[in-house]
Amino acid sequence: MPDGLRMSNVSHDFGSTQVLKDISFDVAPGELVCLLGPSGCGKTTALRIAAGLEKLQQGSVSINDQLVARPGEYLEPEKRGVGMVFQDYALFPHLSVAKNIGFGLRSQNDAERKEAVERALRQVGMADYYNAYPHELSGGQQQRIALARALAPTPRVMLLDEPFSGLDVARRAELRDTTLHVLKNAGIATIMVTHDPEEAMYMADRIIVMNEGQVMQDGTPENLYFSPQNRFVASFFGEVNRFSGTVQSGVIATPLGKVSHDAFADGTRVEVLVRPEGLHVGEAMNGHDVLARVDAVRSLGEISLMHLSLHAGGHVHARVPRRLSSVNQGSVAITLDPDMTFVFPMN
Ligand code: ATP
Repeated sequence: MPDGLRMSNVSHDFGSTQVLKDISFDVAPGELVCLLGPSGCGKTTALRIAAGLEKLQQGSVSINDQLVARPGEYLEPEKRGVGMVFQDYALFPHLSVAKNIGFGLRSQNDAERKEAVERALRQVGMADYYNAYPHELSGGQQQRIALARALAPTPRVMLLDEPFSGLDVARRAELRDTTLHVLKNAGIATIMVTHDPEEAMYMADRIIVMNEGQVMQDGTPENLYFSPQNRFVASFFGEVNRFSGTVQSGVIATPLGKVSHDAFADGTRVEVLVRPEGLHVGEAMNGHDVLARVDAVRSLGEISLMHLSLHAGGHVHARVPRRLSSVNQGSVAITLDPDMTFVFPMN
């Protein structure tokens, strides 16, 4: 069994609903792994089983070489060496910052406890707030204290459940960076639950995409974005343009032109998915171009989203650089980026 955390073949029911179906993954020391998936897919349940807050029904969990849960056997959450931070900071309102952080450090003497609290406060950049009370702190600061409280007992594994979702954009960005920095420096194995693909891409060394209690794909952010293994993963990182077609001699004819794909036999019905950033829009130059009319351009800052009507029929969306958004007269030509075009068999 390696260091870090390993969940093997974990299944879980709530009554007649099967919430996890044979989930397996591991997280190495110093690695941050995101569980990413839509609401209700079982992310939090997986995290709670790792923590010991939910009793394991099937499979096993081990932490740093030690089996901490298998059916009928179970190590208490506080003995697992696991730190946890949740969306709602859950600080005790009547206790000072120092007492909140020191709460879980009962086995140590006063001097050791003070040192651990001060170290954790330094780690999260809140050294001056030792005597403050939660109501005197902003949401972002409270979440820093929640992180400090989780770090103080020097856990080997950290479990984060949507830890930034209550914060505004600027605070969220700051706290993501602090959290990454602290966890990487301490070499802690971390699982973070999120439903935000962008957050997962930014934070994770590896992303585990889940849907309906199953792992859809486990890989690096690059891997998932550029080599999705199924339609679910391909369409989870933002909207996609979809076309259906049939493979003929390794080629699929779509309204955006021909797409080559030699993995499927002739006659296979397929769906072609193209990310909006995979449509390159330019001036119409020659008779072979795939032509479209620009219906609308919505600015998203540095990039714009173009709504296009294809001359051949149908509508598509393209994400284009801001400077291109002025190309909105008459016909434009579209070319496809093969790296952003994915072909999957129809079910
Ligand atoms: P979210 O992002 O909304 O938190 P999630 O992916 O974390 O979703 P879970 O919280 O793990 O999903 O829930 C998975 C399913 O299990 C949901 O349908 C939920 O209603 C159900 N569920 C979770 N906890 C319990 C429980 N204690 N009793 C019964 N059903 C539960």
